[in-house]
Amino acid sequence: MLSKELEKALNEQINAELWSAYLYLSMGMNFETAGLPGVANWFKVQFKEEQAHAEIFMNYINQRGGRVILAPIAEVPTEWATVLDAFRATLEHERKVTAMINNLYAMAEAEHDYASRDRINWFVAEQVEEEETAKSYIDKFQLIGNDGMGIYMLDQELGARTYNTPSPLASAGE
Ligand code: MG
Repeated sequence: MLSKELEKALNEQINAELWSAYLYLSMGMNFETAGLPGVANWFKVQFKEEQAHAEIFMNYINQRGGRVILAPIAEVPTEWATVLDAFRATLEHERKVTAMINNLYAMAEAEHDYASRDRINWFVAEQVEEEETAKSYIDKFQLIGNDGMGIYMLDQELGARTYNTPSPLASAGE
């Protein structure tokens, strides 16, 4: 059984992942409007990934006999002037998510709940990737500045991103 404390924290994490999904969808819509379909695609794929993260936690709570409680999702920002701004906001947000994941890990460890610790550990590695990716796009967009050709090329690159089901869901046969 999950402890009540950990169950509550996992439910808060589900809400944070869904808030992330909503944030990236909002970014996607912002750049759809701005005429950058590749950037919009990248954020829409990110939206799906965050939904998958929430689903992994939901599946896990259910597997352990806990109860998933879906709380309201808070409002998200709706406007970013540049792609650089959006990736800076992404990095800042992902750092907060990393801190939440680390807290969950510490909690599971303190409770000697090693099954939870192992599930959370997948997210520890995932967060390294999330932060690294956001940082790499900050660097690229900083480098090109206002160069139209550069923005066009990066839009093409971001447009090539496709959604891959994260391994904890893929192995569950979904
Ligand atoms: Mg996430």
